[in-house]
Amino acid sequence: MKKIVLLGPPGAGKGTQASRFVAVLGVPHISTGDMVREEIKAHTDLGEAIKKFSDKGVLVPDEIIIRLLAKRLKEPDCKKGFILDGFPRTLQQAEALDRISKIDLAINLNVPDEVIIQRLSNRLTCRKCGAIYNRLTLKPKRDNLCDECDDKLYQREDDKPEVIQERLNVYRKKTKPLIEYYKRRSLLKDVRCDDLMTPPEVTFEKIRSIIDSAEKHKARV
Ligand SMILES: [Zn+2]
Repeated sequence: MKKIVLLGPPGAGKGTQASRFVAVLGVPHISTGDMVREEIKAHTDLGEAIKKFSDKGVLVPDEIIIRLLAKRLKEPDCKKGFILDGFPRTLQQAEALDRISKIDLAINLNVPDEVIIQRLSNRLTCRKCGAIYNRLTLKPKRDNLCDECDDKLYQREDDKPEVIQERLNVYRKKTKPLIEYYKRRSLLKDVRCDDLMTPPEVTFEKIRSIIDSAEKHKARV
């Protein structure tokens, strides 16, 4: 069983890692953020309820997200496992998740603040097509111009260092008890990434070996 929760601050590369999992492990990537957006688009009753909250700019209540997630995890493609990204974010959510499904591993992408800030504050976005570049790791062919549509690249407001630091502070404060929770249950595996230039494949291989040894261990007991 590969029921995995992926933890890590914004900008740690959770999305990138999760999509590799889908290809290699054959389990679905479940992002609660995407689920919420799809539900709104599909105009279901739940979707309409969610929309009311997001229109008001308030957080969608946990119970709604949990209902959505419970439904999703019952679908046949989750039988072999899943990789959960963006949930849980709090201790309460982790406890709720436990009531829906027992998870096997919580993988924590442990990236220091300065690396995240370095990465995100060098991010450039195309005004026209939304393509994302990075001054350090994914340079456009020409300075400040999109490779695809020749349009100007710009730095998004929330990619400014002071904004990123604030988001990280909020994240650390909220997830500390969550990380402790998984640690106490011996489910937490830390994957450190201290260098901005580490290619995502290297991190993925680390994660893969953690999953492999967890499976072997499980087979033995
Ligand atoms: Zn573009």
